[in-house]
Order: sequence, then C-alpha cells, then structure tokens
Amino acid sequence: MLQAEKSAKVPRCTLVGAGPGAADLLTLRAIRAIRAATVLLVDDLVSDEVLRWARKSARIVHVGKRGGCRSTPQEFIERLMIDEARKGERVVRLKGGDPFVFGRGGEEAEHLREAGIEVEVVNGITSGLAAATALGAPLTHRDHAHGVIFVTGHPRQGADALDWDQLGRTAAQGFTLVIYMGVAQAASIEAALLRTLPEGTPLAIVQHASQPQQRHAVATLGALRRTLEQERLGSPAVIVVGEVMRGLLALRDAPRREHAA
Ligand code: SAH
Repeated sequence: MLQAEKSAKVPRCTLVGAGPGAADLLTLRAIRAIRAATVLLVDDLVSDEVLRWARKSARIVHVGKRGGCRSTPQEFIERLMIDEARKGERVVRLKGGDPFVFGRGGEEAEHLREAGIEVEVVNGITSGLAAATALGAPLTHRDHAHGVIFVTGHPRQGADALDWDQLGRTAAQGFTLVIYMGVAQAASIEAALLRTLPEGTPLAIVQHASQPQQRHAVATLGALRRTLEQERLGSPAVIVVGEVMRGLLALRDAPRREHAA
C-alpha cells in the first residue's frame, strides 16, 4: 500500500514524478498517489492532463511561475508541505519528470525528513529519456555509446562551474550527453563543447517532449545556437548530444542530398 493511502497519523508527504507531460506516461504508483492526495503542490512543468487524476475535492496549489508570477520561494513550498502534512492531509508534491533528476527533489526530501515528515518518492519518466524516445533515438545504442550522462546546463549559483572540457572529452569516448536547462546557455555550451568535440557532432533539441505541442530540431554542435534561434525553440527543452543522433541527422539531410543528385 502506498504511504499516501495509509493512515494519516504520521505526517507524510509523497514526492511524485509527473513524467514529461503525457498523462499516459505516468506510473500506476503515481496515479494512485495523485488520486489519494487531499493537497497537491504542483510545479510548472506538470501538465494539466496529469491533474485530471486528482480528486475534485483536492486542494491544488500551483507553485511555479504560472500566471506571470515569480516562482514561489522554495522555503514557502516546503513550509506548506510540512504544515499540511502535520494537519493530517495527504500531501503530494508533483514534479515534472522524475523528482530526483534535477528539480530539487533531493533538497525537499531532506528538509521534510528533518521536520519529522515521512517521505516517499515515486519515480517518473525523466524528460531526457522521453525526449530521445520521442524522436525514436536510443540514448545508448551499443554501436555508438557506452553510456549516457545527464547534466544540467545551469548549475546552481555558487556551485563549482561545470568542467565542460572534461565532459566533452568523456563524450568523445562514446557517451551521450543529455543536457537539461541548457537552452538559455546554449551559446556558451556550444563554445565550450567545441573545444573538445567536432563541429559536426550530431545533436537534437526537443521541446515539450511527449506533449501535443512537442517540437524538435536536429543539428550539429557547431549550429546549436543558430538552430535554436532559427527554429524558435525555447524552454523547457532537452539537448541530446552524441553519435546516437547521427541517424536522425542523416535523415534530416537525406532529401537535400537526393535533391542535389
Ligand atoms: N525533474 C525533471 C527536470 C527538472 S529541471 C525531469 O526529470 O525531467 C527542468 C528542465 O527539465 C527543463 O529546463 C528542461 O531542460 C527539462 N524538461 C522538463 N520537462 C520537459 C519536457 N516535457 N520536454 C523537454 N524538456 C523538459
């Protein structure tokens, strides 16, 4: 039985991965938690489609930037979760993708536990996975990649800067890079990776993966920033860099070659 469905005597909170957007990519466990919730705190990246599983009587609090407001301070969100859990509410914190892949799920879980709240975490399909699959590209095709690296293009302020040279050298050994939160820094990511990776390295940019408004572009590393601008691709998007995207690049260029022949 899910913790969210058990007696509400011990204050509990469930961090639920809402997946990349499409409601049928939710796990059964996520659906059960959402249906059991009396209070839901919902991030911006969670699609409305997912919220259809919530009870009509549930209190839904949007804590993202929706409605033009600045996003709700993290301390306020955590305070609300703690207070509601202590009142005996079944609190679900819905986060886009997977709660423990970026997006501060780890911090939230720590702070809740420190406050004596029992925390359960329900996995979701992270957008990096959904983005590649949406294009039919495997992240670790064994002809091209030994592994995959999930990386943020936007490290926390004050944190050590990411060593893009090291990352590029590792990618050159046959690792796919999946870059979250990279759109705003695309120009500097492109310049940094070009120090260690060839200009012609294939990549894909996928915006709103799995959602009806999904859009994507396939390009080379040397054309990352230009492609984002030309195709008007913006956040939320994932950038997937590596030889696993070579096939899609060839497909993109195929009609042109035929035409030229
Ligand atoms: N926990 C989330 C990531 C949160 S960080 C997950 O596992 O997916 C926010 C970043 O996730 C965005 O800047 C973007 O890079 C990525 N992202 C989230 N949802 C997305 C989607 N549907 N399509 C493409 N990228 C997405």
